[in-house]
Amino acid sequence: MAMSDNFIGDMICPLYGEEGIKQRVYISIYTLKKQNKFCLNLEHEEVKLFYRECLLIFSTVDYQKQAYFFIDLHKMNDNLRMQIKNLVEKYEFIDIKLRKIPSFFNNISNEEYFYIFLDSNISLGPKIYISESLRLLNNGISIDRLNEAIKEPFESRSKLFSNLRENYDIHYYNPNKKYVYGKSNKDARKCKYCHRTKDEGATFISEAHAIPESVGNKTIISAEECDKCNAWFSTTLDNVFFESIKYFRTLYEKKGKKGIPKLKFANGTEMLHSGKTLIVMRDSKNDKLSKDGSVIIPFEFTINFMNVYRALTKFVLTVLPTDELHYFQDTIKWIMNIENNGNKRDLPLVAINYNTQDYLDQPTLTVYKRKNDNYSLPYIYAELRIATIAFVYIIPYTTNDTRTFAKKEDFDNFLKFNIHYENFKDWIFGNYSIDESIPFTINTTIKNKRSDSI
Ligand SMILES: [Zn+2]
Repeated sequence: MAMSDNFIGDMICPLYGEEGIKQRVYISIYTLKKQNKFCLNLEHEEVKLFYRECLLIFSTVDYQKQAYFFIDLHKMNDNLRMQIKNLVEKYEFIDIKLRKIPSFFNNISNEEYFYIFLDSNISLGPKIYISESLRLLNNGISIDRLNEAIKEPFESRSKLFSNLRENYDIHYYNPNKKYVYGKSNKDARKCKYCHRTKDEGATFISEAHAIPESVGNKTIISAEECDKCNAWFSTTLDNVFFESIKYFRTLYEKKGKKGIPKLKFANGTEMLHSGKTLIVMRDSKNDKLSKDGSVIIPFEFTINFMNVYRALTKFVLTVLPTDELHYFQDTIKWIMNIENNGNKRDLPLVAINYNTQDYLDQPTLTVYKRKNDNYSLPYIYAELRIATIAFVYIIPYTTNDTRTFAKKEDFDNFLKFNIHYENFKDWIFGNYSIDESIPFTINTTIKNKRSDSI
């Protein structure tokens, strides 16, 4: 796996500052290989002019109606490239960083299709749809035939989307707003995990993060977790979860971002960011050579993957309302009873997508709660997105389910239902049903043999 440059990152013109902007607009550009987004602050008159002229480049004019229509799908050509270059030259006095815009467009070949949107947050489902249509178009399907080529999946998609809404309430936990889940009055709190109240000796002094702070969560806070349970979770499940994703988090971290710790792996390999460079230090006797002469560096972990599943489950329990908890008593027993003895349990698989293209600084959590008694579907499942990784997983051991979803046919039915994840095409599935720490290696291919950096 080479260092990905799929995600270039926000380019926010510093002149406009990020704080306190009221009239913020985004322009997102998607090619088959890359995406980028630009943020502009329209409080400045000259930025408004730049934005308007920029939109005109990507619009068509209806002379009869005397109106402009913004078009999101474009094919690159020299004329378009020139218009962008001229526009940026005209306005680069606003901010020299605008010069990055033409260089981004220069990386799009002539005749290549790309999308441009006036939006910054496009969720995973539509994103897959965008990349699918770009793939078809850039492989020679004409725009006329594109509609036909994706018409059928589109129709079944809208049908199945309504199927999703019929069966589930969807709760999205917004990382941009700090929120404490549970009772604010400490005297009235009861710990969700050990069930103790203040009268029974529980204290609620420290702030319990629903998703560990070590992986970026600062905003989703749990009120109903006592200090004792909080301390136990942070040394057990939170720690395991951090270990399981640290490689990806660091590898895809925005270049040059401060505060990324030096990571150490079981075989002594270390990884850190220095300025804009990702540095890997390792004992080269562990290296392997691939056929083309590239070096393969192993990163070794020891992980109890059932504990990763326990951690993922706990994140959801933390945000669930108290009146739901009686369905999850066996779930709580399971997450708190780490055996690490090789016992096997009937757990569903965990769906993982390691490269969702967007890098998220703050994790996001979406919880799907079934609102009927359609027991062929799980009562609660969730999507956790963190760094470039998405996990989709069923919350096990609830009394509101009549099956475990460990059976292939039950799990396949669940996958088929999730049309918004494109039926999990290209995802991988983790079997986390054995309660045991096992060695795990991620092999990373480095093309330049002489360099220590990726
Ligand atoms: Zn407790």
